[in-house]
Formats: sequence, structure tokens, C-alpha cells
Amino acid sequence: MCGIVGGIAQRNVNEILLEGLRRLEYRGYDSAGLAVLNDANVIERCRRMGKVKELEDGIAAAPFFGKTGIAHTRWATHGKPSEENSHPHMSGERLAIVHNGIIENYEELREELKVAGYEFLSQTDTEVVVHLVHQNLQKTSSLTDAVKETIKRLDGAYALGVISADHPGKLVAARHGSPLVIGVGSGEHFIASDQLALLQVTDRFIFLNEGDVAELTTDHVHVWDKDNAEVVHD
Ligand code: GLU
Repeated sequence: MCGIVGGIAQRNVNEILLEGLRRLEYRGYDSAGLAVLNDANVIERCRRMGKVKELEDGIAAAPFFGKTGIAHTRWATHGKPSEENSHPHMSGERLAIVHNGIIENYEELREELKVAGYEFLSQTDTEVVVHLVHQNLQKTSSLTDAVKETIKRLDGAYALGVISADHPGKLVAARHGSPLVIGVGSGEHFIASDQLALLQVTDRFIFLNEGDVAELTTDHVHVWDKDNAEVVHD
């Protein structure tokens, strides 16, 4: 079981995400990665085999920053531990995703997406998810709706964090079978697989239920349940 951390804020989130990953190291992992949307609306990403320290050094060697981002420690289930199999995974240059869990029906989805013209750059089950979100974004301008459509197609377990260069100001998350919590800050919001990762920035949490989808902005958190009914939080 590995880890996810994500955030959307009015300050750079790189260090918060890296500290979150360090706090999740106890869960075990083989590689780590981070992607942020920078101020020019470009997704910048770094992935490394090994420890969070390697990732930190990789970013320090060619620094980039962003106020919206996602980060991941991977415990390989599909595809060997390698940089190309590490998360975040991308579809093109403008959409990035982190995933904990296993997509049981990924082989069938992969074949379908290949026929639709998607090129796969990893051996992971996760890569089908990011391409499916990309495909759904051809039908809706809402990143949240594209994620909602995507999870209808997934069998298995997942916690997801999604960012898009075409949807700045949003971080979308979903959970089914893998833990995910939302950290509520002041003018900033976060996601993590364990609240421990976020105690550095907040002590207020929203615990997602099975099948929930969440849309985070700096100001709001909207959550929908598995029946697409909006969940009201205090
Ligand atoms: N199944 C995904 C992979 O192999 C995610 C594994 C994880 O939860 O770290 O990349």
C-alpha cells in the first residue's frame, strides 16, 4: 500500500507534497513522483526510482514550482518498478494522474484505448485511467464530470488525484476501495491517503466514502457520492 498527496493553494505546494510523501514512507514503496501545474499553466513532472530523497534531489537539480499538484509513492502491482511506470502518469502533456490500487479490467480498457489511438508509455494498469479521462474530456468541458464518467468504467480499487492544464484551479479526487482523505485549510485544500501526511498543514479533514468524487479549489470542496448526489459537509 503506497501513498498519494495532492494540494491546491495560493502558495507553491511542492514542499508540502514532498513532506506529505515523507510522512507516508512507512507504507512502503519502490518509486516516487510529483507533478505540478506551474504559473504558466504547464504541467511539470519529476519521477524517480527509490526514495523520496531521490525525487527531492531530482527536482532540486532542475527546479520547478506550482500551486496545484499531485504526488505519489508507488508499490508496483502492474509493471516493474521503473521511472516510466512511476506516477504521476500523463495523457499528452496537459493531464496528470496519481493512483493507488488496482484496476482489474485494465487489459480490456487498454485494448479499447489503443484502438482509439492512445499510445501507452508504461506497463501499469493506471495508464488506462488517465487516457480514459482524456477521452471523456472530448465530451465534456468539466474535469470533474470526465472523472465521474471514467470511474463508471473501472473495476477494482482506486484512490485518484487528477490535475489538468486545461482546468487550472481544480484538483479532482475519487475513492473506491483505497483510502483518501481531504484536508481543509484556509484558502487551500489537500488530499492524502492518510491524514498523517497533512497534519503539517491542517487538522480539519473530510473523510471520503466509497464511491465519492471530490472537486477541490482553493475556496471550496464539493463532494458527490456514488449516486452522484452532492454530499453536504459542515
Ligand atoms: N497499480 C498501480 C501501479 O502498479 C498503482 C500501485 C500503487 O498503489 O502504488 O502502478
